[in-house]
Amino acid sequence: MTDLAHLRADFPILDSGVHFLDSSASSQKPAPVLEAMDRFARTSYANVHRGAYRLSLAATDAYEAARRRVADFIGAANPSEVVFTRGTTTSLNMVAFGWGIENLLPGDRILTTVMEHHANLVPWQMVAKRTGAVLDHVPLTDDCRLDMRVLGEKMVPGVRIVAVSGMSNVLGTIPDVPAISSLAHAVGARVVVDAAQLVPHAGVDVSTLGSDFVAFSSHKMLGPTGIGVLWGRMEALEEMEPFEGGGEMISDVTLHDATWAPIPHRFEAGTPPIIEAVGLHAAIDYLDSVGMDKIYAHDQELTAVALERLSDVPGLVLHGPAGIEARGGVVSMTMEGTHAHDLATILDEGDVAVRSGHHCAKPLMRELGVTATARASFYLYNTEDDIDALVAGLRRAGEIFGVR
Ligand code: PMP
Repeated sequence: MTDLAHLRADFPILDSGVHFLDSSASSQKPAPVLEAMDRFARTSYANVHRGAYRLSLAATDAYEAARRRVADFIGAANPSEVVFTRGTTTSLNMVAFGWGIENLLPGDRILTTVMEHHANLVPWQMVAKRTGAVLDHVPLTDDCRLDMRVLGEKMVPGVRIVAVSGMSNVLGTIPDVPAISSLAHAVGARVVVDAAQLVPHAGVDVSTLGSDFVAFSSHKMLGPTGIGVLWGRMEALEEMEPFEGGGEMISDVTLHDATWAPIPHRFEAGTPPIIEAVGLHAAIDYLDSVGMDKIYAHDQELTAVALERLSDVPGLVLHGPAGIEARGGVVSMTMEGTHAHDLATILDEGDVAVRSGHHCAKPLMRELGVTATARASFYLYNTEDDIDALVAGLRRAGEIFGVR
């Protein structure tokens, strides 16, 4: 097993003894990230792209250095293709409202999947209603993988945009985005990837991923809340209208009209998340120092151990692909006759923190035939100890609820 246990000392919150198994909702932050933000706020903070004074110029340099760091981390040759947003949700809405409203006509097709987080579904529903485009969904196979056969059948001329999760936050399923992108491009569609889980847990290389847009959040990858990224291929970004107007996104403004600043600034109206950009930069440095390959392998090893140990817990049903190939570190479960919230409450009594509920994926819950699941998700600071605590807590829950 990849041993990353020594990293735990970098995460102050873990000193409390919590078995933190909810990183898919939001990850914990290592000391170097907290310290970088604190240092910047104490010594170098000012608004960016606005001041002629040295402090503002230095802050602008730090903000733009963060953009270059993100570009480098995701394999984007051009840092201008990196737009800072509030998070994945804003990034996806930016594509839906900035690209979708601008480019979709009545009868055009939007192809998405039944396993999307609401953030990659609801904006497309809104855009379909406004434009008259038709929303269609790719189903899952019995093994909770994306059904590539049906996807191929649905990928017909008229599909203009494909919106797909890079890794399901409920099932851990990782679809073959390069293959989906080739099929989509063959019919002239653009591809947007909700990479909220994929980037933190597997990393992406946009030069080989094949998609046109990639959205992710800093807070799920050891960085702070309040900042996220929309990467777009330059020609795809050029097809997009700004979704918000305001300061710093214009080239010129008259009383009746405005022209836009160059990309990416036209998509960053208002004061951006400056301290947060510095934190994201530090988070990427941290992830890179460990290595995304190692992190993915560690998540997978913990998932394999969890699937094996959980399979012995009486009454427990695991939802997700049976094997660990192309699967991230997420395990969703239900227990016969027991509500997921009750499971989470009992687990909490043993200091095990898991998420319970519909995970912002209500249509997927319906596909699985449940209303809610309890979800354990793993990250670089988790160990087999956390899994043992999870299994013990679930056994205790089973005893309390008389499950056998
Ligand atoms: N998509 C997926 C797959 C997610 O897991 C999440 C976060 N739960 C989001 C989108 C939304 O991310 P955020 O809340 O950071 O905007």
